[in-house]
Amino acid sequence: MSGGPYVIGVAVLVCSAGLVSAAAYLMGPAVEAWRRAHRAAPAPAASPDVVALIANGQAERLDFYHCPGEQRRRPHAVSVDGSRTCWHCGHHSSGDQT
Ligand SMILES: [Zn+2]
Repeated sequence: MSGGPYVIGVAVLVCSAGLVSAAAYLMGPAVEAWRRAHRAAPAPAASPDVVALIANGQAERLDFYHCPGEQRRRPHAVSVDGSRTCWHCGHHSSGDQT
């Protein structure tokens, strides 16, 4: 009645459980930070109008302008003719027309 294999089995079980909880303890905060970072900066979905502008090669650049539709500064796709399309709501404005 040495109980050798039984003791080793329990020891292995305890060690694996310890390793798993240690890994969870170490990885938990890292995973949480990664999730938080990705939640904090979601990629804004472009309006279909902006997607069409970019697809047609009519959008010259992206810049921030006041959106009359939302009454706040929003990224806009600026067309080659100077007109702007709001990235968020698709509101189209004629722009400066210089
Ligand atoms: Zn807008």
